[in-house]
Amino acid sequence: MRDLVVAGGGPVGMAAALHAHRAGLDVVVREPRPGPIDKACGEGLMPGAVAELADLGVLPRGHDIAGIRYLDGHGARAGVEAPFKAGPGRGVRRTVLHSALAEQLEAAGVAVEPRPVRSVRDCGDHLEVDGERTRYLVAADGLHSPTRRLVGLEAERPGGRRRFGLRCHVQQAPWSDFVEVHWSSHAEAYVTPVDDDLVGVAILTARGEGFDEALADFPALRERLVGERTRVRGAGPLRQRVRARATGRVLLVGDAAGYVDALTGEGIALGLAQARAAVTCLAADRPDLYERQARRIGLRQEVLTHALLLATGSQLLRRRLVPAAERLPWVFTTAVNQLARPIEVPA
Ligand SMILES: Cc1cc2nc3c(=O)[nH]c(=O)nc-3n(C[C@H](O)[C@H](O)[C@H](O)COP(=O)(O)OP(=O)(O)OC[C@H]3O[C@@H](n4cnc5c(N)ncnc54)[C@H](O)[C@@H]3O)c2cc1C
Repeated sequence: MRDLVVAGGGPVGMAAALHAHRAGLDVVVREPRPGPIDKACGEGLMPGAVAELADLGVLPRGHDIAGIRYLDGHGARAGVEAPFKAGPGRGVRRTVLHSALAEQLEAAGVAVEPRPVRSVRDCGDHLEVDGERTRYLVAADGLHSPTRRLVGLEAERPGGRRRFGLRCHVQQAPWSDFVEVHWSSHAEAYVTPVDDDLVGVAILTARGEGFDEALADFPALRERLVGERTRVRGAGPLRQRVRARATGRVLLVGDAAGYVDALTGEGIALGLAQARAAVTCLAADRPDLYERQARRIGLRQEVLTHALLLATGSQLLRRRLVPAAERLPWVFTTAVNQLARPIEVPA
């Protein structure tokens, strides 16, 4: 019998498999899509994510990120910058990140089977995943996790604004080492330097419009984007709730474990920390410890993201956000660095 099946070969699933291999577990990854996998993502790795990856020997090519800059969508104000105190983050294309993790998996001899997880049966002292015996299953199969549904951890759809993400790349040299967040009356545009000649632009919006329509709300940014654009990818609705992050021998990690919003841009850092915690619990044969740990790992990010979402749901507060951050740069810098610092995994 195998020790562990990981459903999903995104960054979090691959990291979980690397941790498992390191812990001496017999692990396989199930991922139906051929690599390198692309995805709608702002592609900004926070310093915590860079550190988690480095710990796994993964040093993907990209562009260093010095911090976060908030700007108003019309370019009428100077904006405000929060430099990262925990060292640089890195803008990394998802395909580059995928390849870097896949190389490590291959070097470790961890197999990636090109098929999805379709059924899970709890047999008490083991699981049957698509009829094959395994002691544990880690579900890292993303925002709409089919595995989460299979094991009954999907919660009801939350009410309120449904937000979506749209992302494309623009072929031009980055003009800043900061991730720029441009705020319009109803959307945010994130500009991330991801290579010497490439920037990523991700727009978060609740209106369901297309990329060009959404970009029209950011005239200063639109003018700056002079290079050729790639096709647009989308994701959402972003908010996903779960009933719990574990049941029996099945643990949820990454976006599969629930998601608030991409507004604060540390989904990968959080997922990597959860992957590390989940494998630590499984290596000790204590899956029961994971729920509490996962809750603690995600708490800081959840509270800050909910607070920012709530505040920016009001038109008035949205308009006042950038001027307020300009007036109180230390508050802005403190909040950004709370999110950027490496995530501690509780013992
Ligand atoms: C617009 C946008 C901007 C973002 N910006 C940032 C950012 O700047 N920085 C950041 O850190 N995060 C950002 N995020 C969040 C980040 O993209 C996610 O947190 C991250 O991709 C989660 O990784 P994951 O491995 O959990 O899931 P995914 O990357 O979604 O991978 C899940 C994998 O599971 C596979 N799968 C699906 N079903 C099955 C199945 N049944 N069996 C097996 N495999 C299956 C899929 O094919 C996929 O490859 C952003 C998200 C969005 C939408």
